[in-house]
Amino acid sequence: MSMKEVRLARGKEQPVENRHPWIFSGAVASVDNGLAPGETCLVRTADGKAAAVGAWSPKSQIRVRVWSFDPAETIDGDFFRKKIQAANALRTDLGLNAPSGGCRIVYSESDGLPGVIADRYGEFVVFQLLSAGAELHREEIAKALLELPGVRGVHEKADASARRHEGIADRPCIEMGDKAPAEIIVTENGLKFAVDVKNGQKTGFYFDLCDARKRVMALAKGRNVLNMFCYTGGFAVAAAAGGAKSTLNVDSSASALRLAQHNMELNGLADAKAEFVEADAFDKLRELQESNRKFDLIILDPPKLIDSRNHLVSGSRAYQFLASTAFRMLNPGGILINFSCSGLMTQELLQKITFSAALNAGVDASLIGVLRQGADHPVALTVPETFYLKGFISKAR
Ligand code: SAH
Repeated sequence: MSMKEVRLARGKEQPVENRHPWIFSGAVASVDNGLAPGETCLVRTADGKAAAVGAWSPKSQIRVRVWSFDPAETIDGDFFRKKIQAANALRTDLGLNAPSGGCRIVYSESDGLPGVIADRYGEFVVFQLLSAGAELHREEIAKALLELPGVRGVHEKADASARRHEGIADRPCIEMGDKAPAEIIVTENGLKFAVDVKNGQKTGFYFDLCDARKRVMALAKGRNVLNMFCYTGGFAVAAAAGGAKSTLNVDSSASALRLAQHNMELNGLADAKAEFVEADAFDKLRELQESNRKFDLIILDPPKLIDSRNHLVSGSRAYQFLASTAFRMLNPGGILINFSCSGLMTQELLQKITFSAALNAGVDASLIGVLRQGADHPVALTVPETFYLKGFISKAR
């Protein structure tokens, strides 16, 4: 049976020539009848040259996600096994794949597997399938993850909104091998973190902040810390372990805050001066500023505030508001660490926003560090959007 085909519109070949794996609706000239969601298709240029094989996704603006730029590649269990093993081996080579720890082992386009996310927590893997192609091959992907050395069980976590954009129907989550316990404890930078892989956000823990947590630990000594968007307390634990004088931690999720407190206890930090507050971070920041509170270290790690190009301006304003309010609340010599995890926010733009926030707050500050997602979240050179997490460390003079 021959593969069904997708033909590119003339003049729209450039992304494919540059090996960018997303083919948008506007670049598609024609499609063979009967091509099913997720089905592997052959992508041809307007001149008829076979250019790639990818997964068809009729409901998404990204109509094809390319699996391979070798049009002769067969997309089957073997393909997924090889890609997943290579991705896992990369983390092992980087020294990030310690048995008692965890890290991202498959990061979507950066590992040649658009729509496949997998994080390892000790002996368990939690994965998400966010594209029609990944959904179609779910059994092969889950099996390949279970075959990885040291993995006892794999557990899927459905991300409803991303799947809906792809038109993927709801179904029970896949579980293979041993069942994951309700709470898994992973060690990172010598600290312990309990992860709720069933009910937590994303796969349960933000491994992309591993390097950032290390930096916070090193900077926190003797400082009063404000930790906005604290989730399960990654920075709270790192700061307290690094000798912070106090931490005030804010998040809108009550369950995340409970786990954050539990994580303090797990690390013998139950006696550290720490407060956990359930609130909207924007309101709370305003309130703290109005009551003239000051801190020596402020961390701002909001969720993605720019979802699409339409939100670039409003999202940038929100990042600017957070940073300028925080700058105003710094003691002399205080440090601000501000992040953006929006793929559409460039590092350069975040630097400009941070600069204008300091100016706006009337604070002279110097950048003393730049942060980014850890090496377990590699950046595909052909897909700049995969460089999504940026952060700046500014020190007020
Ligand atoms: N810094 C965290 C990760 C932050 S993820 C870590 O170290 O692990 C973003 C967090 O922002 C989530 O926990 C989410 O619950 C929270 N959040 C989202 N919108 C919020 C809002 N308006 N106010 C407060 N918290 C919010």
